[in-house]
This record gives sequence, C-alpha cells and structure tokens, in this order.
Amino acid sequence: MTGTWLGMPPFPVAAREALGNEQLRTNLRKATGTIRGKRAAVVDERADWEALRVAGKEIKDRTLHNLDTYLEQLERKVTESGGVVHWARDAAEANRIVIDLVRAAEADEVVKVKSMATQEIELNEALAEAGIAAYETDLAELIVQLGHDRPSHILVPAIHRNRSEIRDIFLREMPGVTAALTDDPAELAAAARAHLRRKFLTAKVAVSGANFAVADSGTLVVVESEGNGRMCLTLPEVLISVVGIEKLVPTWQDLEVMLQLLPRSSTGERMNPYTSTWTGVTPGDGPQEFHLILLDNGRTGALADDIGRQALRCIRCSACLNVCPVYERTGGHAYGSVYPGPIGAILTPQLRGVTADEVSPTLPFASTLCGACYEVCPVLIDIPQALVHLRAKAVDAKRGKPSAERTAMRVAQWVFGSSRRLRLAQRLVSIGGRVLGRRGRIGRLPGPFKGWSGARDTATPPRQTFRTWWESR
Ligand code: SF4
Repeated sequence: MTGTWLGMPPFPVAAREALGNEQLRTNLRKATGTIRGKRAAVVDERADWEALRVAGKEIKDRTLHNLDTYLEQLERKVTESGGVVHWARDAAEANRIVIDLVRAAEADEVVKVKSMATQEIELNEALAEAGIAAYETDLAELIVQLGHDRPSHILVPAIHRNRSEIRDIFLREMPGVTAALTDDPAELAAAARAHLRRKFLTAKVAVSGANFAVADSGTLVVVESEGNGRMCLTLPEVLISVVGIEKLVPTWQDLEVMLQLLPRSSTGERMNPYTSTWTGVTPGDGPQEFHLILLDNGRTGALADDIGRQALRCIRCSACLNVCPVYERTGGHAYGSVYPGPIGAILTPQLRGVTADEVSPTLPFASTLCGACYEVCPVLIDIPQALVHLRAKAVDAKRGKPSAERTAMRVAQWVFGSSRRLRLAQRLVSIGGRVLGRRGRIGRLPGPFKGWSGARDTATPPRQTFRTWWESR
C-alpha cells in the first residue's frame, strides 16, 4: 500500500486536534445520528436479518478461502466477454497501468465514479503528475475534490462539511456558478449536475471501482444513489475499473445476499437507487474497451493472517463508522487513511503493515472496544477481536526497544522491591502532589507522564498514606 496521507500525525495527536473542532463534532453527530436511525428501522423490518448476516459472512469466507480459484475464473470470464484483465501488485503498478491506458486512448482527462481503491493508491495524484486531469463525479467526492480536502467517511466522504461550507466551496471552485447560489440542497445538487454533465459528455475515458465482482459470469457491480456512476459506466468509450481482489463473490445467488445487506447497512434504504452491472463489452452499446485492474496492494498479506483476514470480508457499508463513539468525536481525517473508523483501524495497519509508518501502529488503539461495530457489521466482522490482535502485534514490534513506559515499569519494580524505598517514594509523591496540584487535582503531569494527563486530570495523592494511617492506630 502507498504511504497514503503521508505526513499525518499518529492517531492520538490527530484526534486531539479534531476534538477541538466543535463544528466538526456537530456535523458528525447530526449526520451519523440520522443514518443510524434509518438503518435501525429498515433492519428491524427483516425477521431474517441475523440469518442474512451469517450468509454474508459465509459467502465472503468461502470466497477468501478459495480466492485464487475465483480470481482465475473471473479473469477467464472477463476475457471471454471482451474485457482485458491486468494484475497490480501495488499502488505504483496499478497507477502505471491506468496512466498507460489513458495515454493509449489519447485522452488528457478522465471522469471517475466513487472508488476507494483509487483513493487508496492515490490515483488522482499520479494522474495529475502525468498531466491527466481526474474529475470525481460522486457528489460527495466532488465536494472533497473541489475543497482540496480528504474524504472522512466511507459512504459520505464530505460528512464533515455542512451545507453552507459546501456552498462556499462551489462558489470558490466550480466554474460557472453565480453568487446567487444558496445553500439549499436542491440548488447545490443542480449546480453540481450542470457541472458534471459537461464532463460526462466530453470525457473519453472513465475510471471506476466496483462494489462486487461476480466470478462465474465476469460481471462487475456498482451500487450508488445518484446515477452519476451509471453515466460514467455507460457514456465514455473506455472504462477502466480498479478493484481490490477481495471484492469477489462466486455467483449471482451470492450477490443477491450482498445486495440485501449493503443498502440497509449503509444508507438505511431497502434498496439502493442505482445498481449497475456490466460484463465485458457489447458492440455498439456502452464503452467499447473495458479494462479490469485487480489490485493486491497488501491484501494477500492480510489474507495470510488468521484473525486479521476477516477485515477482507468488509463490503464498505460504513455502519461501523456510524455507531463508533470514537469516530463520532474525532471524524475520519484523524485515522490518516482513506479507510477511517473501526474498519480503518483494522484494515489500514494490515494493508500498510503494522509498523510501516507512524500512524499504523496507533490505529488499533483508536477504539474503546465497546463492540458496537461488531453488533452492526452485516458480514459479522469481529472488529474488537481484530483490534486486540493487532494491538498485540503493535506492542510486539516495540518489544526490546527503550520506551518511557518500559523505563517507568523498571523504576516501579525497583521501588516496590523494598518497603523502605516504597515509603520514601510515597512521601515524595505526596509532596510533589501538593506542589503541582490545585484544588485536589493535577492538570498536567511533567515529563513522560504527559501522555496520561493529556486527556484526564489526576487526583492529588492524599497527605496520609494507608501505611502511615495504619501505623497511627
Ligand atoms: S466492517 Fe462491517 S460494518 Fe464496517 S464498513 Fe465493513 S462491512 Fe460495514
């Protein structure tokens, strides 16, 4: 995986900064609360919801256990239908393939339908370097792109923005928008539609992702709410789809289960408004050239991990984000990756490697382990279990290296090893508490103890220890 969002600070640092942003918390609370309510209502309608979840889990597990077989089947079927399959080991390889294909089509711009895989590999940046302009067509993605921003939610990438912020972005960045534009959602959508229509009608090449790929027919599937995706998938001459290798389902019967789980879990709808499927190319109808890039980028590494591999079952519904108390307060940017929230906390460190950068080892700790994410996950990913597993890996990676915590433990061991030393230490702590404390509380502890006091006050130690009290009786 690329060092996505290079330069982002570790989660605790980024989260602390986000916690100071009241507008962000208000926007998030409102948006996630609304989606949570809708999801709960439509899930309650299904008496067989639990059975569906089990079916979803089993389909994905079966697929992952036989991934090589299903991938080869998919490749065969796509090729037989007139498509071309490319294999990309990592981000650099995938970006290179896309750039070569766009150049071969003699195009200097592409339209894109929402694809997390292309954000993961930072395709837009690679295209820009190659002199190719990329235009996001999903409304939320467009807002993020025009705002020179980063996505902060899987389903609603601009969830951190409210209506008036979006109006300001459109006024500033969208060509042809007049100052009369208000922050009415219908007006904002109309402005975006006019802007995008011009792009749809001129772009020769489209880049998409896929929600699913059906192995036994070679069919790609995109589900969306706006219809912009369908324009991307049908109007341009060349269609390039960048798809993670874990997106497979073996058959259309399996797809049927997923298409019941996904909309209810993500948008809280019984069915999503647009489901587009395509198989290779059809002469005279739709794109006449279709390329499928199957992306590994760390996925086979995750697949080899007995506990961590369940993250590859994810169907990117975002239900776990909408119930997570940590995500609701920090927002998605703090996770330093295109995959935020509970799923990001287990997927990102696996795709990048737990010790690959400063951010990854902190992500498994970005959770209270309350289990709300597990309760809503439509494919039963035991996120708390994976978090604990990855925490152990992050700690193991540091074993043997000097750290403030290790030094503190050594000192504690030495102090507790002698009653005389303990007595002296208690006396010093009591005096220190009186010097540093105000009204029974110590706000900020010095030196390596800063980490503890950064998020909580510490009670000042009592003047009399248990030991002295006992002796005085
Ligand atoms: S982990 Fe589960 S709940 Fe979270 S996005 Fe993936 S499928 Fe949805």
